[in-house]
Order: sequence, then C-alpha cells, then structure tokens
Amino acid sequence: MEIKLLAFDSFGVRSMSTFIQTDDVLLHIDPSASLAPSRYGLPPHRKEVERLLECGKVIEDFARESEVIVITHYHYDHHDPGYLIPLDIYKGKVVYVKNPEEKINRSQMIRARYFLNLIKPIAKEVKIAEGSELRVGKTAIKISDPVPHGVNDRLGYVVEVSVSDGSTKVVYTSDVEGPPLEEQVRFILVEKPDTLIIDGPMTYMLGFRYSRKALQASIENLKKVIEVGVKKIVIDHHFLRDVSYRDRIVELYQYAKERNSEIITAAEFMNRPIEMLEALRNKLYQEKPEEMKIPENLRSLLEE
Ligand SMILES: [Zn+2]
Ligand SMILES: [Zn+2]
Repeated sequence: MEIKLLAFDSFGVRSMSTFIQTDDVLLHIDPSASLAPSRYGLPPHRKEVERLLECGKVIEDFARESEVIVITHYHYDHHDPGYLIPLDIYKGKVVYVKNPEEKINRSQMIRARYFLNLIKPIAKEVKIAEGSELRVGKTAIKISDPVPHGVNDRLGYVVEVSVSDGSTKVVYTSDVEGPPLEEQVRFILVEKPDTLIIDGPMTYMLGFRYSRKALQASIENLKKVIEVGVKKIVIDHHFLRDVSYRDRIVELYQYAKERNSEIITAAEFMNRPIEMLEALRNKLYQEKPEEMKIPENLRSLLEE
C-alpha cells in the first residue's frame, strides 16, 4: 500500500486530501483544499494563495488517476464544486459521499445538494458512504457510521474511512477535532490500523471554541489508539493551526514513545518541511506585507 498525503495544514493549506494506492484500487479521499478567509484579522497572504494553487494542481492530478473517490463531508476543504479543482475529475468515477440528507447540518445540506447535482451526471456511480464496504481483490474499503464534526454536531457529521490491502491498514478520520468523543474513536479501535491519519485537537481555539476538557478527552482517546497497537499516527489539520501544537500534547508524545508508536504531521510523513502558513500568517505579513487579490473563482471556496 502506498499512502500519499497530498495537501494538509502542515503544507500551508486547509485540507486532508489523501491518495491511497493498493495492488487493486486507486482511492482518493477528500480531493479539495481551501484557506482561512481571516486569521489574526488578516486575509490570506500571497504565499498561502500560491500554495493553494500548487496543492490544487497536485490534488487534481491524483484525482484524475483515481478509480474511487470518497467525500467525508461538505466543507470546502473536503469537497469542491469546481472552484479550485475541475469537476471533471469525477468523470467515470465511483464516488462514495456522506449522506446529504441525514445526520447533516443545514449549511452542508445545501452545499451537498448543489455538489451532487453537479457530479451525478458525470460520475459512474454515486453511493451513500455511511456503513459501506467495498472489496476489490485483496483490498477492503470500509466506511464508518456518521460521527460528529468535533465535540458536538453543530458543524454536522463526517464519515471515517478504513483501507486494508490484506497486509496493512490505514484509517482516515476526517474532521473529528481531537477525537474528543468515544463514538469518534470507536471505529479506530475496532479497525486497529497500522497507520492513522487524524484531525487533531482544535487547540488554536482553546478556551474559546474548544475546551480544555475536549483536549484532555482527545489525549485519553489517542492513548487508547496507541494501546491497540497503532504504530504511526499522522496528526494534522485543525491541530496544525496552532503554533504551539507540540506543547499541547507533551504527555501524549511521551506515552507514544514509551510504546514505540510515532506521532508526526503530514508534512513529516511526506518528508517535507512543516509550513504552518495559516498559523504564521501574522509573521508572513510582517516579513512581506503581500496581500494577494483572491482569484474570482476561489472567492466562494474561502467561505466557511
Ligand atoms: Zn469540516
Ligand atoms: Zn476540514
């Protein structure tokens, strides 16, 4: 199995876009990326817009190669109705999508309908993701029941994805923001993957939209993940929007080390430098005050 992490917050964009190749299938999870419309009261820096365009091109290239695409929910950093990435990536593909009508909040329901109307005429098949299982040769793709997007369901629900090639297994959690909840960690504990790709705690909002209690619950849940033998944990996305992310989970790094598990960012997984452009946006402006006019086609993508 080959796992290619294509665009993540540690690369400088908001995304968890992941490509997985086994002997049997080419799978792309969440082929999209976006940027924070405002951070520190500042719009995206030129460097971030340029990075978004670069990542968009990579995502597009891999998506074209894929046979199966999974959309875990309808935020623009996970699905794109053609703003950054051309819609024809869906042409002829089998697409598993988060249920657009159930366990979903209002804003995502509207986005889901719009998106599905666009892709249904071009995709080979569009299926409801929740609880699905797909077998191709030795490869098994399993999708979880819906779990809350974060500590509650205010932002709706997401699905998690497990891929096994018969010898190794990976689980992709999508936006669980931690995971603070037992129902979010359950799928991981059942699947017991070798590698976990997880959306870590949303600590850049700590004490504001993310509680210390949620952070502690997430740490405890990740300890359980280590206990069942997950050896590589790629923690990224919301977590990499906090410049002090390492200090937030010191005890977890120690816990993992003692049990021969590894906790790394997506950038480290891909052997590239960690570039937390959103978290460093204020610094980028201090160095070079370069705002960049957001291209017209990307304006909608940056709406939260
Ligand atoms: Zn989301
Ligand atoms: Zn996200």
